[in-house]
Amino acid sequence: MSTEAKNEILDVALIGSGVMSANLGALLKSIDSSLKIELYEVTKDLSHESSNGWNNAGTGHAGICELSYTPDRGTDGKVKVGKAVEIFEQFEQTKQFWAYALRTGMIDQPGDFINAVPHISFVYGQEQVDFLKSRFEGMSAHPFFSEMEYTEDPDKIREWAPLLIEGREGMPVAATKMKAGTDVNFGELSRKLIHWLGEQEGCSFYSQNRVTDLNRCTEGWELTIRDLANGTNRHKRAKFVFIGAGGGSLLLLQKAGVPEIKGYGGFPIGGQWLVCDDPEIVKKHDAKVYGLSPGAAPTMAVPHLDSRWLEGKKTLLFGPYAAWTTKFLHRGGSFLDLPGSIKFHNILTLIKVGISNIPLVTYLIQQGLQSMDTRLKELRNFYPDAKANDWKLIDAGIRVQAIKKEDGDAGIVHFGTEVVTTEDKSISALLGASPGASVCVNIVLEVVQKCFPELCNQDKSKSKLKEMIPTYDLGTISTTEEIKQYQKWSKSAENLLGLYR
Ligand SMILES: Cc1cc2nc3c(=O)[nH]c(=O)nc-3n(C[C@H](O)[C@H](O)[C@H](O)COP(=O)(O)OP(=O)(O)OC[C@H]3O[C@@H](n4cnc5c(N)ncnc54)[C@H](O)[C@@H]3O)c2cc1C
Repeated sequence: MSTEAKNEILDVALIGSGVMSANLGALLKSIDSSLKIELYEVTKDLSHESSNGWNNAGTGHAGICELSYTPDRGTDGKVKVGKAVEIFEQFEQTKQFWAYALRTGMIDQPGDFINAVPHISFVYGQEQVDFLKSRFEGMSAHPFFSEMEYTEDPDKIREWAPLLIEGREGMPVAATKMKAGTDVNFGELSRKLIHWLGEQEGCSFYSQNRVTDLNRCTEGWELTIRDLANGTNRHKRAKFVFIGAGGGSLLLLQKAGVPEIKGYGGFPIGGQWLVCDDPEIVKKHDAKVYGLSPGAAPTMAVPHLDSRWLEGKKTLLFGPYAAWTTKFLHRGGSFLDLPGSIKFHNILTLIKVGISNIPLVTYLIQQGLQSMDTRLKELRNFYPDAKANDWKLIDAGIRVQAIKKEDGDAGIVHFGTEVVTTEDKSISALLGASPGASVCVNIVLEVVQKCFPELCNQDKSKSKLKEMIPTYDLGTISTTEEIKQYQKWSKSAENLLGLYR
């Protein structure tokens, strides 16, 4: 590499090769082809942390089946569906950008990363049935969910997902179904986008490169990067840094010493899946089935029975079971991550949150220690005939929930994704992990609009954004005309992605 290239100031440095950095890099380079962008990833393989197919549930979260997005009832007793509508719109933006990437040849083979899988909500017991009925009434009245079906008939549910009914007797059951659901391999998509980015002029990506420090410099930030293959350190300066390091983001923000991170802490929640590869069982189930949260389970640990398309093969995943851990990353993490993240400025918040969440901590410890029999009991709430021999336990990814000062009393686990940006807009980082990868394009749009206002305000960029994500500048969609136009855009993206044909 020439001295000139070595000393070159980057426009953008991306830390981490997960779905967030991948989409941000691809989006920025598509808006402005002159940007110099580099991406650094600590592991040997790209996108192998939370975005890796086996580490998350692969649900294209669109608010269709996840009952945790609609927990509340209004004063009239009806289930409120506003949050589900919001998530639906955000996932639409994600699909639109991926469809644009396909249309323009940035990526190919959509079946490698997105497949149509119906989304089902399934409940049992009269109280849950009443809840689902009210939710269905609210949801199906909205044009996004007008194709949703509802039934309390076990034979209909058997037709939709036979495993749910086999061996079940007597108790009231209900389910909703929408054909227009998806299973997504976020890791595969990320790798495709990063490889495209790496081929563009002025852009590169490096695996086995750990960013170990961030210091302010005249141009923005100087990154210290350790090449794990040869054990050397190098420095790179960048005007803007995106910390998309997943569970590692909090630690890097602390290293950067930005005041915006004061008072923040991280609380890791590990996960595990039960996996079934038996072709006879796998072929009987073609759906993502979400239920209601058992007891103290945090919303992100609400179990589901998922058809997955991974490594070219269909499989069944049940979980996640939550687990207690002190690591922030599954692969490159250390058990010292949690203790190492405790600082003078966040210790009080962490203690307060710990005390007000004792039932959660107890729940996590119990989950981690539970026997296979107890895990199977939970699976049998969904699939009563499940046999232990057909299932094996594997680790899932770790979600590091962000804890903020003002969350002290409110609790931590319902805290979603938070983009932390410095006042001078030179660093943006993503903390938290819900609803996660599905809304990545909505999240990176927020970063681009906040940190690159001059770029976004140019007419050329505005029309490029509109071309890539037609709904990016729309507020609430309400008129019939707007809905018709919206549905036209959705259809076009779905066709490109090869869905629902
Ligand atoms: C159990 C579970 C189930 C989930 N299910 C779903 C789901 O069904 N649908 C959904 O939409 N979302 C889901 N999510 C959330 C989703 O997986 C995450 O929101 C998303 O993958 C986060 O992407 P990311 O790019 O921020 O982080 P990651 O994918 O974790 O990527 C961060 C990368 O940064 C690297 N890194 C860390 N530190 C450094 C460093 N110092 N230097 C260089 N590189 C570094 C890591 O190695 C990693 O590759 C789930 C998450 C979990 C854990």
